[in-house]
Amino acid sequence: MEQIDAVVVGAGVVGLAVARALALAGREVIVLEAENAFGTGISSRNSEVIHAGIYYPPGSLRAGLCVRGNRLLYDYCASHGVAHQRCGKLIVATSADELPALDRLRATAIANGVSDLQPLCAAQATALEPALHCVGALLSPSTGIVDSHGLMLALLGDAERAGAVLALGSRVHRGHITPQGIELEVSSEDAEPMTLRAACVVNSAGLDAPALARALAGLAPDQVPREHLAKGCYFTLSGRAPFSRLVYPAPGQSSHLGVHLTLDLGGQARFGPSFEWVNQIDYSVDPAGAGTFYDEVRRYWPALADGTLQPGYAGLRPKISGPGEAAADFRIDGVETHGVPGLVNLFGIESPGLTASLAIAERVAQNLTGSTAQQVHR
Ligand SMILES: Cc1cc2nc3c(=O)[nH]c(=O)nc-3n(C[C@H](O)[C@H](O)[C@H](O)COP(=O)(O)OP(=O)(O)OC[C@H]3O[C@@H](n4cnc5c(N)ncnc54)[C@H](O)[C@@H]3O)c2cc1C
Repeated sequence: MEQIDAVVVGAGVVGLAVARALALAGREVIVLEAENAFGTGISSRNSEVIHAGIYYPPGSLRAGLCVRGNRLLYDYCASHGVAHQRCGKLIVATSADELPALDRLRATAIANGVSDLQPLCAAQATALEPALHCVGALLSPSTGIVDSHGLMLALLGDAERAGAVLALGSRVHRGHITPQGIELEVSSEDAEPMTLRAACVVNSAGLDAPALARALAGLAPDQVPREHLAKGCYFTLSGRAPFSRLVYPAPGQSSHLGVHLTLDLGGQARFGPSFEWVNQIDYSVDPAGAGTFYDEVRRYWPALADGTLQPGYAGLRPKISGPGEAAADFRIDGVETHGVPGLVNLFGIESPGLTASLAIAERVAQNLTGSTAQQVHR
């Protein structure tokens, strides 16, 4: 049986950031990715926004890792030539009854350590973005956008230079926790199934992370959350983008951020993502969904012309809380949570997981320092 120090399951932005951190810390790392390319899961179906850390409950992992991840990501992009833009974003109240939501958001942001939000009156906001309709806004200068594929390529390059190996087309089916290490059964299209024994395993399988954890014999079943899927669809705007900053509506009652406008690095505008609980993986975008988008977008951009929204793409949020439940925090479950040395399960890494990826990786590497199956059982 092949022995390896550290296995990362999943080559999305989080798995690649973790592989990089472990390899730079001197660990022998192999990344097992089921698909034939890296980054084809959640990491390629998102808004590519570098979030500031405004929305998440103070003290939560989502808040802390987003704020730290934001700084790490800007620095990383600058030092590694990853395309990005600190374009800023406006969170807008379109009627007076939404203004208190902006005040609450500002208080949450300050509690999270985000101190650069600027309250704007309608005239100040429209001076920045003349096409905007609002009665008040918050400007977030530290929100931006990033080329997520370029980021993953840079993370992979760093990891490989530090000795990590990426094995594509390698799906982990199940595993077995033993005193000698964590054994993983891996299949690939062009090779015989094989078993690897690893001192450390980081389960960064995105949507499949709970299923994979459930397939690890020796991990208590109550350590695995129930998974839920929430689909988000995007519509793209044909023609020139009307704004140079991202525009988000003031948050309503739900934890969903509302149909917002984001820009890609080419300046193309897209709206979304919508929010719908679903039971299966399906990335189709129903053109009929455009009706709701026109209504929601016209609240802050009344000039949106009929016929200009085209179905774009869809993503799935890896939820670990279901309909009617409070939004769950990220879970980075190490030995202190489940009792298995050398195992880290990453659950519920939805937004802002792209922003937080480097901070999550830092946390995982810290968690694994001194906690490996080999070290404990030697
Ligand atoms: C609609 C939407 C919008 C978002 N917008 C933003 C945003 O603007 N900003 C932001 O910061 N975050 C955003 N996010 C969140 C962000 O995209 C995710 O947190 C991040 O991409 C998660 O990366 P990951 O590596 O955990 O998962 P993934 O990218 O899904 O990677 C998991 C990988 O594991 C592989 N895999 C699965 N099972 C196995 C197995 N058994 N064996 C081997 N490999 C396996 C998969 O093929 C996949 O490549 C958004 C998310 C969604 C859904």
